[in-house]
Amino acid sequence: MAATVLQQDTPHDTHEALGLTAHLIQLEDQYGTHNYKPLDVVVERAEGVWVYDVEGRRYLDCLAAYSAVNQGHCHPRILSAMIEQAHKVTLTSRAFRNDQLPRFLEDLHNLTGYEMALLMNSGTEAVESALKVARKWGYKVKGIPANQAEIIVCTNNFHGRTISIISFSTEDQYRDGFGPFLSGFKVIPFGDAAALRTAITPNTAAFLVEPIQGEAGVLIPPDGYLAEAFAICKGNKVLFMADEIQSGLGRTGKLFAYEHEGITPDVLIVGKALAGGFYPVSGVLTSREVLGVITPGDHGSTFGGNPMACAVARASLKVIVEEHLADRSAELGTLFINRLRQINSPHIIEIRGRGLWIAIELTTPARPICEALMREGILCKETHDNIIRFAPPLIIEKEELLWAADRIEEVLKAV
Ligand SMILES: *Cc1c(COP(=O)(O)O)cnc(C)c1O
Repeated sequence: MAATVLQQDTPHDTHEALGLTAHLIQLEDQYGTHNYKPLDVVVERAEGVWVYDVEGRRYLDCLAAYSAVNQGHCHPRILSAMIEQAHKVTLTSRAFRNDQLPRFLEDLHNLTGYEMALLMNSGTEAVESALKVARKWGYKVKGIPANQAEIIVCTNNFHGRTISIISFSTEDQYRDGFGPFLSGFKVIPFGDAAALRTAITPNTAAFLVEPIQGEAGVLIPPDGYLAEAFAICKGNKVLFMADEIQSGLGRTGKLFAYEHEGITPDVLIVGKALAGGFYPVSGVLTSREVLGVITPGDHGSTFGGNPMACAVARASLKVIVEEHLADRSAELGTLFINRLRQINSPHIIEIRGRGLWIAIELTTPARPICEALMREGILCKETHDNIIRFAPPLIIEKEELLWAADRIEEVLKAV
């Protein structure tokens, strides 16, 4: 069976008849789960802000893998760190120590000021870990009665796809067919500090929030909301947990979005750009008081904190800092949003954003516009039905952004 499959690996007839793009799409649709609805561009390689499909066509990446490649594709410094580490050791498991983990932990502390970190792989795992840590802190430190801990979250949240996380999603499709769900979560409206005050009880361990909601369509809460929510949490001994997996690491024009309101969350959750798109690396950063509740055997991950992950993440953080990506994001974001706001189209409801993280909300479906932009050489993706999110790599040049804006204008005018 396997031998036959291998022989038929490249069915030249089909592939010549269909063209390579269509052939690969057909294979993926036949053998892969249809849990995404990607644009029909088959990427073969990428460099910086540009990606190339299997036919050799070039596109400007205006999504940056949902902000996982803020440093640009295949950044040479991260690439060499990865290759160098691959020659040494890639995985030890945490049964043994490795020489990269302590150095990465120190880098994280020096960069953010957080006392300790717990390293995981995907963003979802980091959120899961933060929920576990918050609950345990609630019992061991705050003194919440056993199994009574509550965690407050917001409407339109996106924190991942595991059963515990979708248990508090407000997106019907994310939950449909996946019950029964986990209890212990309360959902309040995003941006409403008074609702937070009301929802807190003596059993509340934590408030989990995205400082700006990315998947919801770059939803920015009212000015002062995060600071007020943070003060409410402080006043009630509730952990303020910021999910900065998408908003963090330069995307909004600051290293972290919480800096816009001058607060320091009790718990910071990071992922995505933490390893520049080379590797899944995520983490929960917080105080010794909080992570101190975790003792050997409480929690773990075979790959979490592995030497490859740590070497790649160290180089990725260096690039963000040394190439001033947060400042670039602030500067170029202002330029880009101002240019987009010059577009005169009756189909635009609102253009909003912070740094190089910008959404255009439309009166019409966004998908056909993303498809038209793809034909013009720009890759971006709709979120919900009528919102287009732009989040290019932060190394993008001004000229490239203006080139994209011209094309976005043309496509929107043709609707
Ligand atoms: C992407 C994302 C996650 C999940 O991260 P994965 O790496 O896809 O598991 C969680 N929270 C936010 C805010 C995200 O943007």
